[in-house]
Amino acid sequence: MKSRFRIGNGYDVHLLSPGLRLVLGGVDIPHTKGLVAHSDGDVAIHALCDALLGALSLGDIGHHFPDTSAEFKGIDSKILLERSYALILDKGYRLVNADITILLQKPKVAPYILKMRETLAQTLSKVNPDFPCAIDDISVKATTTEGAGFVGREEGVAVYATVLVEKICE
Ligand code: MG
Repeated sequence: MKSRFRIGNGYDVHLLSPGLRLVLGGVDIPHTKGLVAHSDGDVAIHALCDALLGALSLGDIGHHFPDTSAEFKGIDSKILLERSYALILDKGYRLVNADITILLQKPKVAPYILKMRETLAQTLSKVNPDFPCAIDDISVKATTTEGAGFVGREEGVAVYATVLVEKICE
């Protein structure tokens, strides 16, 4: 790969169902509904993984961590993020910054956003401490859809993620 910089985008949706766990950006959020998934359903982390993989044309999360595999049943999505980022570092690139937008109607997630940014930055930094990731490198935003569509009807949560990665200088 010739480019010093590469960008990637990711998008994921999970359905909401009563009584399940709602975890976004590695943070548990108390709510009456949670995310239906083979893994822990952290749709924000899944979108981020896809953005990272996309930046280096490495396919998608479903290719690397198939939801038909028992290995990934109920898995903490932070582990998927660590493994995805390890692939990026192995290719000789590091994350410059990530920008994540969560679309959900309820509950309000503003009180949890700083914790999500901290959790994601810590998870990424763990992969290789030589390339730490700062909280300021991870943006998390949230919006409702003003009641429109499947997000507005509280049927699901959608997340967009964009990343920039940079070649590690030797
Ligand atoms: Mg997913």
